[in-house]
Amino acid sequence: MTSRGQQNFREERERERERESCSGYQSDAKVMRASSLSRMKSVQDSSAGGLWDSVKKAAFVIGSGLFFLVAFRNSVTWHLQRFWGASGDFWQTQWTRLYTAFDGNEASLFFIGTMLVPTFFFWLFNGFLMIADTMGKPAFITRYRIQQDKNNPVEVERVWRAVKVVLCNQLFLSVPLVVLTYTVMSWHGEPCAPELPTFHWVLLELAVCGLLEEVLFYYSHRLFHHPFFYKRIHKIHHEWTAPIGVVSLYAHPMEHVFSNMLPALIGPVLLGSHMATTSLWFTVALIVTSISHCGYHLPLLPSPEFHDFHHLKFNQCYGVLGVLDRLHGTDDKFRKTKEYERHMLLLSLTPLTKSIPDTPKKKSDIISTPDTHIKQE
Ligand SMILES: [Zn+2]
Ligand SMILES: [Zn+2]
Repeated sequence: MTSRGQQNFREERERERERESCSGYQSDAKVMRASSLSRMKSVQDSSAGGLWDSVKKAAFVIGSGLFFLVAFRNSVTWHLQRFWGASGDFWQTQWTRLYTAFDGNEASLFFIGTMLVPTFFFWLFNGFLMIADTMGKPAFITRYRIQQDKNNPVEVERVWRAVKVVLCNQLFLSVPLVVLTYTVMSWHGEPCAPELPTFHWVLLELAVCGLLEEVLFYYSHRLFHHPFFYKRIHKIHHEWTAPIGVVSLYAHPMEHVFSNMLPALIGPVLLGSHMATTSLWFTVALIVTSISHCGYHLPLLPSPEFHDFHHLKFNQCYGVLGVLDRLHGTDDKFRKTKEYERHMLLLSLTPLTKSIPDTPKKKSDIISTPDTHIKQE
């Protein structure tokens, strides 16, 4: 190495040390990341395939998630708790009023909270999106389209077909499942108790529900990609290689039950969650899945690049959070793409397709096309 090279190397090391020492929190985080990575590596090293391996990985994800949540609980939620402390009484008063108005009819309260409220927000959000999808405007939404050459605009007939399937799924499958859920939850708890849970408890339950959904959705989704199930069940959902929001629930009835409903239901049932928490969780889950299918990477909303890429390429990015895809290596091709570079929270008004433009296509860039994938199956 030349003396100039050595000097550059030393300067780089100095800068690295300064970055490390600038805050205790960062070094703590680094230690935690390092231990997490080493655990991840050990999990990967010991992988020999099979169900037991998958179970170990799932346990690792849930364990790590809870570990981080507990580790950062005090610092992260302290500020939120201050806000909640002021408004907590407000929510308790509203809940007591509602409970009294329904004369303690818990079944009705549960159905309204966990079925009607999330469904209302789902259609409200997707109603706006469908206007943009079918009209091709307003431009302040459509300029954020991920697959720029697709869905400009979407045929009304095609959207209508999807809407009918979604309505059938909600009416004939979601409604009975929610009723069944109430029955099961009433056996071992009081889902509509007069007292609301604490703020910390709601946060913890949402985190556990999110992790359980990641695990159950990932593995059920991968199972539906097995050629046997794909042809018979999951192919319907993948008719949309460039999805729109409402396609999130456009699926075969079996898929709607086992891949859409059960992964979201299992958390509240196992935890014996309060109806208010379940209502919030279902609403968040439905809005998040609508965003991940909507086809627009909008500012300040979670990035939909991950699942959009799944619809485009079929054999990548099976999960929701992406944790299990990283562990199983099912995001390896995604991580080499422009879509991965754009997979972030957009904090400016410039569309990411402009700030991170596509490179001109070469043959080697084509990972797999929908046609080749279907032929394989
Ligand atoms: Zn799929
Ligand atoms: Zn999808």
